[in-house]
Amino acid sequence: MKNSALRLASAAAAAALALGGCSMAVKTERIDTPSEQQQSTSPQIESEGASAAEASAKTDSSSKSESSAKEQSSSKAESDPQKPSSSRAEGTAKEQPSSKSASTVNEQTKPQQDEQPESKQESKQESKPRATGISISLPSNKITAGKTVTPTVTLKPENAEPEEYILTVSDSSIILINGDSTVTALGEGECALTVSLERDSSITAQTEITVTPKPDPLPTENVFIKGILLVNKEYSMTDEIDPGGLTPECAAAFDRLVSAAAESGYSLYSLSDYRSSAEQQEIYDSYVYQLGQYGADAICALPGHSEHQTGLAIDVASYSTGYFPGTPEAAWLAANCADYGFIIRYPYGKEYATGYSYEAWHIRYVGDAAREITDSGLALEEYLLD
Ligand SMILES: [Zn+2]
Repeated sequence: MKNSALRLASAAAAAALALGGCSMAVKTERIDTPSEQQQSTSPQIESEGASAAEASAKTDSSSKSESSAKEQSSSKAESDPQKPSSSRAEGTAKEQPSSKSASTVNEQTKPQQDEQPESKQESKQESKPRATGISISLPSNKITAGKTVTPTVTLKPENAEPEEYILTVSDSSIILINGDSTVTALGEGECALTVSLERDSSITAQTEITVTPKPDPLPTENVFIKGILLVNKEYSMTDEIDPGGLTPECAAAFDRLVSAAAESGYSLYSLSDYRSSAEQQEIYDSYVYQLGQYGADAICALPGHSEHQTGLAIDVASYSTGYFPGTPEAAWLAANCADYGFIIRYPYGKEYATGYSYEAWHIRYVGDAAREITDSGLALEEYLLD
């Protein structure tokens, strides 16, 4: 059982592996109640060599005592892509009865703190009640094939003791549960997503998901909106644009960014930037080999659909840490990259718009619009299309 659970955990990690334009990073995440949801914590992985950097968990002070490093192992083990299941690496995750189901165990659904200041002292000393109910919701119950969303799980009562829960789906060919407790729509159809407390499976809730087909690969033209080239899972670019490397503007802007970071004491460098169509095809093919067509499509951009092909995207890393998200370097990048014409391309909580989980390291050069986009809080898709 233990081996199995570990293997399943790693499969989920493998599935999450390529979300950032293929083979760049694994996102793992601790799920709290919405009010305290963590930013992603992910180890970065060398795109060619697959040498996983050390993972570490970012915790804020209020949740530190409840955090654990369980997720770390999920990105390191061997992968078995056919059986996405548990994100818990201790080997105690329950096997699901049906081969059609997939599950993930999530930790620490943390209730909101008591807001009343006068009762704070008291409530600290009292033990929190055990959960008697659970609920699950999604940004939308209609998901386009290929999209990734984050379910929101809440315990009842609101001040209940945090507990581990298990996500299962009725049909894992329709919905894939990722190791970071996001779910990815794979194939067309209807699928039930169920959450149950690990302690007591009778405390459970369910929501229905309808997966709609992927729209036809859209434009075969290069689409510029407000002067910005849009490339994502739906909008492709043609081979007419092939900068062969970072564009001169992007490269110069990145140099300035790196210098500014150094002045502030942060060592940043480009882990991966331009990829040719052929390189992207190679990466895609390797995922088809590992995961099959559906699996590959869910997590890896096709040639023409990766921003890295534009010569305008860079995966940033830091010399001072093998693990980027959650570090002061990542915070500096998020706060300052707009001053150099870059945006954090896949912001936290914008999977529904971008098609990708949060990536702290992937920046996209957009020039003068960067500050406006960043300050708007919108994903690039929302800024350009809505
Ligand atoms: Zn990237």
